[in-house]
Amino acid sequence: MIGNVAIIVAAGSGQRMQSRLPKQFLEIGRLPILWYTLSAFIQCPDLDKIFVVVPEYYTTKCENEIITPVAQKYNLTAQKKITCIAGGKRRQDSVFIGLQAAEGFSDIVVIHDGVRPFITPSQISEIIKKAKEHQAVIFGIKPRDTVKMIDNNSCITQSIDRDRLMMAQTPQAFSYALIKRAHEFARSKDLCATDDAMLIEQMGNKVFVAPGHALNIKITTPEDLILAKSILTEWPHENQ
Ligand code: C5P
Repeated sequence: MIGNVAIIVAAGSGQRMQSRLPKQFLEIGRLPILWYTLSAFIQCPDLDKIFVVVPEYYTTKCENEIITPVAQKYNLTAQKKITCIAGGKRRQDSVFIGLQAAEGFSDIVVIHDGVRPFITPSQISEIIKKAKEHQAVIFGIKPRDTVKMIDNNSCITQSIDRDRLMMAQTPQAFSYALIKRAHEFARSKDLCATDDAMLIEQMGNKVFVAPGHALNIKITTPEDLILAKSILTEWPHENQ
């Protein structure tokens, strides 16, 4: 069956969080960050399959403490939609492993950071719809601060026109064939990228930016955890 697939990458070690437990497993409210993320994806009616990519050592923990309870909360058959796999060294490697797993049954693939729990099922549906139109689409938001380029001495060399800047978020959605080709191209040329759109850009293809959402933060540092706990108090109950 050809359908829409999500790859949730959560195989990072979370060094910037200064915690032994990778940040995707840290709790906000009473549940792990990845629980909220998966819960949004499982409720999206436009997805046929979800791959959750975690560090190899955490696959059993993820199955038992996140995938099974989240699936049971929504319905028992939901679990059949979700597969947990072990990730790679870099984010890019983890996505590639997810793409290989999705081979053969993916039309549109939605790639999302596991550490962005404040996403909604309707936003996921929206990006799938836009990917069918544009082949490659990301959510992005305009920076609120003025952005400066600096030199090695931390002196400003340039102020960048804010109207031409977008901060890239995930989810990012692509036609499967295009993103698989972009990852293979990057591997053949030894290119490295911090998001998937960058790999499409490096091939010379266009990527459309759709208006993102300010609450869709990436939880990276201990300060982000403070923000996340605060967002959670206002987050719709059905997404918890
Ligand atoms: O490191 P960064 O904050 O860019 O990570 C973004 C997402 O990519 C996180 O959800 C993280 O768990 C994931 N990641 C991954 N495999 C890696 C490194 C990061 O799946 N090797």
